[in-house]
Amino acid sequence: TVKWGLIGASTIARQFMINAIRAQPNGEIAAVMSSSPERATAYARENGIALAVSTLDALLGSDIDAVYISTTNELHLEQALAAITAGKHVLCEKPLALTSADARTMVAAAKAAGIVLGTNHHLRNAGSHRAMRESIAAGRIGKPIAARAFHSVYLPENLQGWRITRPEAGGGVVLDITVHDADTLRFVLGDDPLDVSAFTQAAGMAGGGLEDGAMCIWRFKSGVIAQSHEGFTTKFAGTGFEVHGSEGSLIAKDVMTQKPIGAVLLRTAKGEEELSFDREDLYVRSLRQFHEAIGGEGQPSATGEDGVWSLTSAEAALQSARSGKSVAIDPNL
Ligand code: NDP
Repeated sequence: TVKWGLIGASTIARQFMINAIRAQPNGEIAAVMSSSPERATAYARENGIALAVSTLDALLGSDIDAVYISTTNELHLEQALAAITAGKHVLCEKPLALTSADARTMVAAAKAAGIVLGTNHHLRNAGSHRAMRESIAAGRIGKPIAARAFHSVYLPENLQGWRITRPEAGGGVVLDITVHDADTLRFVLGDDPLDVSAFTQAAGMAGGGLEDGAMCIWRFKSGVIAQSHEGFTTKFAGTGFEVHGSEGSLIAKDVMTQKPIGAVLLRTAKGEEELSFDREDLYVRSLRQFHEAIGGEGQPSATGEDGVWSLTSAEAALQSARSGKSVAIDPNL
């Protein structure tokens, strides 16, 4: 059995991760920690978790093997380092930290301690994105030339909190969604970004100097150029992901989402083909890979290093938007 402690009485844990852990044949949630004792108790009761605690020491001192960190972003670093010191495996939400330097510190600490560290980039676990990655690797679109990620959504009212009001908590759409797009582009293309040029906006939802919309242009090592659009304020945009190559195009719709939905079309000289793909829950698959990694088999679907890459990319996008210049992406790994 892998006994999990939840760090953070969060929405994402309630909506997806508690189920994902319990869906594993050997997954158990032993404890939850909230900074508020009342919230911890209520959350434990609502979700059938035996132990509710309100300090990190109490959580790390309980009988657990791994922690899932889904607090606000400024807390991830300290909580992950404490868990690593206590010998617990860590699945951490994105962004791993507020800066790529801090994320690198987490990766180095986990490595030194022999701890499994994963970043919860769920989109790598989507059958749609895996089907696109496999098609590209198999040469089905020839040489990849350009990619486009459409990931501008409407932030649900129940989540219109720290993301749009608290810069010190790591709010803003770039740390929230651009990190996912940067990771998904790397994953699907099987390529690393070299630099980024970005514009951001405050289109009426975010305050405190935070951005609620971003458009980024990325250049990859292979020469592929990509664009990504992230937003909190577009109610009717829909999502998508496209890769265009010398011999074909992959056109995916409704795939930048937490659910195993959407469609992927391959268009070539032979005509159009809808790719069939696995519809497994993204988070269940992520957890399975994480459990396997704890058991010494393979790696989490997104590693700590992948989390450093995505945060370095997001950081570069923010720097570009501020400076008006394109910014190099060097994860320094
Ligand atoms: P929430 O706002 O739901 O939770 C974050 C923290 O806010 C909790 O840890 C909790 O603190 C506090 N909190 C929650 N509800 C209340 C309340 N009613 N009153 C006061 N405080 C409250 O965040 P999300 O679940 O949306 O995001 C958490 C993390 O997960 C972030 O890092 C985010 O980037 C990431 N995320 C990742 C997703 C993915 O698909 N990979 C999707 C969504 C989020 P405490 O624990 O102290 O009680």
